[in-house]
Amino acid sequence: MLRNVEPGSSASCTGCDKPIKFSAKNPQRQVIANVYVDGVWNRVEQFHAVCYDEAEHPFGEPR
Ligand SMILES: [Zn+2]
Repeated sequence: MLRNVEPGSSASCTGCDKPIKFSAKNPQRQVIANVYVDGVWNRVEQFHAVCYDEAEHPFGEPR
C-alpha cells in the first residue's frame, strides 16, 4: 500500500538501501508491500514511492 511516511519511521528502502525518513517540510510517500511466498505471508518490504516506481512495482500495484 501507498502511504505517507510517518514520524519515527526507521525502515530502509529495499530499492536504494537508504533510510525512509520522515520530514515535516518535505513529506514523502512510501510503499509498504506484503510479500507472500507460496501463498504464505513472508515479510514486509518498504520502498520510497519513487524507488518502487523505478523497480516497476515488483510486488504489484500500490493501492
Ligand atoms: Zn529508495
